[in-house]
Amino acid sequence: MAYRTENPATGVVEQEFTSATDAEIARAVERADAAFTSWRATPVEQRAKALSAVADAYETRGDELARVISTEMGKPFKQAQGEVALSSAIYRWYAEHGPALMEEETLDVGDSAKSVVVTEPVGVLVGVMPWNFPQYQVARFAAPNLMLGNTVLLKHASICARTGELIEEILHAAGIPEDAYINLFASTDQITDIIADPRVRGVSLTGSEGAGKAVAVTAAQNLKKSVLELGGSDPLIVLDDVDVAKTAKTVATTRMRNAGQACNSPKRILVPSSMVDEFVAKVVETVEGMKVGDPLAEDTRIGPLSSTEGRDDAVAQVQRAVEQGATLHTGGKALEQDGAWMSPAVLTGVTREMDAYKEEIFGPVAVVYSYDSVDEAVEIANDSDFGLSGSVWSADAAKAEEVARRLEVGMTYVNEHGTTMPGLPFGGVRRSGYGRELGRWGFDEFSNTKLVRVA
Ligand code: NDP
Repeated sequence: MAYRTENPATGVVEQEFTSATDAEIARAVERADAAFTSWRATPVEQRAKALSAVADAYETRGDELARVISTEMGKPFKQAQGEVALSSAIYRWYAEHGPALMEEETLDVGDSAKSVVVTEPVGVLVGVMPWNFPQYQVARFAAPNLMLGNTVLLKHASICARTGELIEEILHAAGIPEDAYINLFASTDQITDIIADPRVRGVSLTGSEGAGKAVAVTAAQNLKKSVLELGGSDPLIVLDDVDVAKTAKTVATTRMRNAGQACNSPKRILVPSSMVDEFVAKVVETVEGMKVGDPLAEDTRIGPLSSTEGRDDAVAQVQRAVEQGATLHTGGKALEQDGAWMSPAVLTGVTREMDAYKEEIFGPVAVVYSYDSVDEAVEIANDSDFGLSGSVWSADAAKAEEVARRLEVGMTYVNEHGTTMPGLPFGGVRRSGYGRELGRWGFDEFSNTKLVRVA
């Protein structure tokens, strides 16, 4: 796709970017490979200092970065500010913890030889990143790997090109060498060639299953590691002892964040049948009360979707669900104005036979299911091709934790959903992908855990 900023709030193309030539791509791989030798040899404290300066820059330039996010993909400004703050925290976390994570470990394995494990970088990596959290998703890949001493070639989503440029500018100004982090306006064919290049050691992708599969196949054919963070259809189970009104409001707000375009958004809300009518009424009231509008306006809660294609897909999914027998309580329509607008929707009555039961809906659509027993709720929750995260809500945290531990996902929560912090692992199972990001787990994905043994 062509790299350009098409403001999804207006439909106006605000900026166009020049795609990389094959010669520029070849040169970038050469530069990143040459930079690896010096970047890995740079004292760990100096790499940490550079990441710390990145975190500082994110704090100083927070509003500017947030405004670009809002303009490129429609996220309400306040939420974009939150994303920038989280990105800053990630760079800071790796700056602070990176040196300790790289310390050598001496193992006692019961013999007289010396056994030491050292953590080393592996080389040039490629990151392929999406538009829905355009700062945060790059941060969670770039920060640990730059800290380790790997070098990075970054292909951002074509609709977030300006963010891609800004990240590169900030990293370089903070002291990351120009050739250790290179932003590329590359095509998918060029990315395939880069992954196949013998100098490149691995690839990390966040995005759709199709893109993940394409990248993973090329990586596998060339015997390289890949980390994939793909879609999700997270279950959120409400137990029968909650404050219905309060929980419904929080859950509806959580689902509508980022106009529902998050891999770990609670896309399947499971409620006891005894309270489902009251719960749905409150969800509808909450959703109808959320201001849909200009992402840069202070009181906006839901902006446009990131593109008209994304909006059309979500509207079509709602329509198909209704045609197949689901009940639409509110919204679900494209707004008749320029841009990628859609009214937020609430669906019930989705059954196993319907497409909406299995699909991920990447838009502002709350789907509420009812259940009769906790076992049934867990059974529905686990009846999914995805396995990113899930949550359980209850006045009894211990009871909820027991249920949460039964979910077949990569992350479970009680009385919150999707909390992301730099020190917590992030990632899924099944078709949600493989590998982990953030914390020490994200640090280990592209490191060489090297044994040094002296007899
Ligand atoms: P994509 O997966 O197409 O985009 C994500 C990134 O992958 C972009 O940089 C994109 O580039 C790139 N890409 C796409 N195809 C290839 C390929 N064959 N080889 C290498 N890179 C590739 O996501 P979409 O924007 O199309 O969104 C579609 C769906 O994906 C959503 O509805 C949602 O289900 C899922 N998704 C999930 C995300 C998550 O957080 N897990 C994030 C975004 C989307 P380019 O932009 O140039 O096409």
